[in-house]
Amino acid sequence: MITDVVAAHARTLPEEDFPAFVYDLGALRSHAKRIRSALSGPGAPEIFYAAKANPDAQILRTLEPFVDGIEVASGGELEHVRAILPSARIAWGGPGKTDAELKRALELDVERIHVESPHELTRLANLARAADREVDVLLRVNLAGDRAGAVLAMSGPFGMDPKLIESCHAILAASPWVRLRGIHAHLASGLDALALLRQAAEILEWARPWADKAGVEAPEFNLGGGMAVDYSDPNRQFDWMAFGQGLQELATPGEKLRIEPGRAVSVYAGWYITQAMDVKQAHDHWYAILRGGTHHFRTPVTKQHNQPFTVLPQKSSTELGITSQPVTLVGQLCTPKDVFARQVPVEQIRVGDVVAFAMAGAYAWNISHHDFLMHPKPTFHYLDIATP
Ligand SMILES: *Cc1c(COP(=O)(O)O)cnc(C)c1O
Repeated sequence: MITDVVAAHARTLPEEDFPAFVYDLGALRSHAKRIRSALSGPGAPEIFYAAKANPDAQILRTLEPFVDGIEVASGGELEHVRAILPSARIAWGGPGKTDAELKRALELDVERIHVESPHELTRLANLARAADREVDVLLRVNLAGDRAGAVLAMSGPFGMDPKLIESCHAILAASPWVRLRGIHAHLASGLDALALLRQAAEILEWARPWADKAGVEAPEFNLGGGMAVDYSDPNRQFDWMAFGQGLQELATPGEKLRIEPGRAVSVYAGWYITQAMDVKQAHDHWYAILRGGTHHFRTPVTKQHNQPFTVLPQKSSTELGITSQPVTLVGQLCTPKDVFARQVPVEQIRVGDVVAFAMAGAYAWNISHHDFLMHPKPTFHYLDIATP
């Protein structure tokens, strides 16, 4: 399952570069291009890449030509993205924005602020007035409903439920310098195209009359991210064509749709490449101990799954190893949770062999607890070889 480009690079990695994150920017570019062309034409949504999936500077720069903007989820991401992409359109969402961060957002020309509560709206209105600035907002709604099939339902404290959001009318009426542009909703993650379209229809059915009643002209509806990726089968990818067609059917003239995908955009472009240091048996199970660990690449722990991988045999590998056996791949941490994959059958794995984990381009390095145990940091590599 590893691509030729990444396998070739993995073979040339010098010893001291392991473990390595390898980002295939050429592959990322073609993937982003396919997404863009599936979502183009009349009624097509704007695409804002959710930076929290992977805010690496080179990833952001590679994606910039294929997206309409970047969605940030914190003051830190806001500063980071503005520094790297000075002219990008930015939308900022997320609970718990401080006054200092909101002030910076006004200075840094954030195009849309997704407001999460009536209290936040009041604070933003006061800050904007004090700064003598107008500010454009979407109100984030939290609709109940059955998120069947979702990996993560964004219920709980995110946004405002349909009852609470009513109290925004009075705040907005008293703050004409806060311009309500529409509604934001990010309700679940891990939905396939059909489920996401059903959810989009549900959001629009609620949001259109609400925006109309609030007197919003040319309203915007941000339908969120959460496009599914399948870690058990990297080839089974989100159906962007079906999603694009379905959205086109849902769209009505005079309104603007927007989405903010993260994981499904960048996940396939990243690889975590490491090396087997030891192979041994304990209580009838075979283990391969790999350099690095889940303090670099936490995804398999947080998602409790087997990370897909390829073993690349090395000429220089030792005889110590196993053939045609299930193996558990672990890292160097002193915790039984440091597991990349459990009891996965392999043809062969020997000490010295390279192990390349796929789907390490989103919620990987940036969500990991790097300093735990003080092992060396990984190295980072950016491949930019044109792929068809
Ligand atoms: C995390 C997040 C996203 C992106 O979700 P993915 O599952 O990575 O597509 C989009 N919008 C909001 C508000 C988020 O919190």
